[in-house]
Amino acid sequence: MASSSSSGSAAATAISPETEEELTLTVKWSGKEYTVRVCADDSVAELKRRICVLTNVLPKRQKLLYPKVGNKLSDDSLLLSQIPLKSSLKMTMIGTVEDDIIVDQAETPEIIDDFELGKEEAVDIKDKEVNKQKLRRRIDQYKIKIRTPCRQGKKLLVLDIDYTLFDHRSTAENPLQLMRPYLHEFLSAAYAEYDIMIWSATSMKWVELKMGELGVLNNPNYKITALLDHLAMITVQSDARGIFDCKPLYLIWAHLPEFYSAKNTIMFDDLRRNFVMNPQNGLTIKPFRKAHANRDKDQELVKLTQYLLAIAEIDDLSSLDHSRWESFTEDNVKRRRHA
Ligand code: MG
Repeated sequence: MASSSSSGSAAATAISPETEEELTLTVKWSGKEYTVRVCADDSVAELKRRICVLTNVLPKRQKLLYPKVGNKLSDDSLLLSQIPLKSSLKMTMIGTVEDDIIVDQAETPEIIDDFELGKEEAVDIKDKEVNKQKLRRRIDQYKIKIRTPCRQGKKLLVLDIDYTLFDHRSTAENPLQLMRPYLHEFLSAAYAEYDIMIWSATSMKWVELKMGELGVLNNPNYKITALLDHLAMITVQSDARGIFDCKPLYLIWAHLPEFYSAKNTIMFDDLRRNFVMNPQNGLTIKPFRKAHANRDKDQELVKLTQYLLAIAEIDDLSSLDHSRWESFTEDNVKRRRHA
């Protein structure tokens, strides 16, 4: 843990805001007690993720009960420093482990409000000391399970799932009908130059199941280096936008520095805010929605294959502006034609 300075003295007092002070909570669930360590600058959402690690109850299934705090623990965006929690009192969690993955999928809230973060503000968020502290703690806590060895000299492609590779809001008899067109062709081509990781804001169980159903985990033409889930994310604070979750690539770079860095990593996600800790490495992909209507039209992965392969020759990707990826591909094609 990043902070070892807090001792028992913190136990009886409510934690103060804007500190890295740790709080040890006891959570009762299903007849057992669990010890959960959190920090004052963590959000309720983060507390629920910690509880999920211990109990396997998904955050959205958890109802937290605690004396004298009313409904505050149902507001995921609240910071724990805003709630009078004390180590001396026990919290009760009500919730069931999710066995039916279909229910999980159907009830995933639709995020359509991908707010724009101004460039200056994005810098603020990634440079804020409180966010850097959270990132350091996450690096200490999260273990990346390597499924297939990292390859020296390859770049890294990190992919979101929902709306990026898969339309998780439509229903179908077979999940393959909801897969973004050309997914396997795209991954096969990218694999020549990139190691591939999948990072979803859902639980690992869902990530493994969904990727397995789509045939991504045992394809003979490419391998997946690692899967990451919501527990690898951090909650950041923005002055203008409040509190939200994001996917900090530095977590991967810190764990695998001999292979990956800001220079050779690119991430595709339909939510721009997921890149906020590393805006230079993110490419906002057009969301794949309404699979039944768009299955024959969507060409995003074909076009992005061209882009990925074109930029694979560049040593330092961090100098590129991925928001202009479409014109980069066109320029490239034009240049080749005129050559
Ligand atoms: Mg998504």
